[in-house]
Amino acid sequence: MRGWTLGSGSSGNAIVLESGAHRILIDCGFGPRAIAVRLRTLGIAPESIGALLLTHEHIDHAQGAERAQKKYRWPVYGSAGTLLALPEIEARWRRPITPGLPVAIDGFTIEAIAVPHDAASSFAYTVTATASGARVGVAHDLGAVPDELHGSFARCDALLIEANHDAEMLRNGPYAPALQERVRGGRGHLSNAQGAALAASVAHPGLRAVSLLHLSAVNNTPALAEQAVTAAVRRAGYAGPVRAAPRRDPTLAFSL
Ligand SMILES: [Zn+2]
Ligand SMILES: [Zn+2]
Repeated sequence: MRGWTLGSGSSGNAIVLESGAHRILIDCGFGPRAIAVRLRTLGIAPESIGALLLTHEHIDHAQGAERAQKKYRWPVYGSAGTLLALPEIEARWRRPITPGLPVAIDGFTIEAIAVPHDAASSFAYTVTATASGARVGVAHDLGAVPDELHGSFARCDALLIEANHDAEMLRNGPYAPALQERVRGGRGHLSNAQGAALAASVAHPGLRAVSLLHLSAVNNTPALAEQAVTAAVRRAGYAGPVRAAPRRDPTLAFSL
């Protein structure tokens, strides 16, 4: 199983997961033309994507979802609330899913975990490759870590976890107090320390890769995020790579 980030942060998010000939896209925060260009940079034809999973409807995650779905006829999985916010997707392509009920799609089993965020109804996901059994956890745009997420992410081979802001940079940065409060609040985004605590709590000897998502361009740096999470997972016994996903460039996140 392999995974790539096509971009990560407030200017657009998308992740591709691949198992053999099967591919899924998690979020489509780029327009249809941009997502196709980013996929082709990796040698991936948009037509080869079997399904789109959405974490939530915010524009940096779903702005291209309706138009790309029309063009490539992807079935779209997500919470009922997320799908309601995207009225252009025809009923026959909608696949509302429920936390706790795993769903088998071509090549993968997906499982949703509800997470707190200032959107209609946000999900984190675990994705398990049918062929290899490899399992990946993806969580971004969450203000706090629900207990269920610890359980679901405990058996993952690769983790893609939000590390949005450094708490001190946010406090001393240019954001107005109300916006700061929204970002650090329980329905906002995970700080480096919160992402580090999540990664450390689910790290285990079989874990192979940790990728950090949705870094703020204003209130974080890749070095700060990587340092915070690396220190925490090293204490938990994980010796493998910890890398911040680039904001704009499509990049390999893991290869299992
Ligand atoms: Zn976002
Ligand atoms: Zn969001």
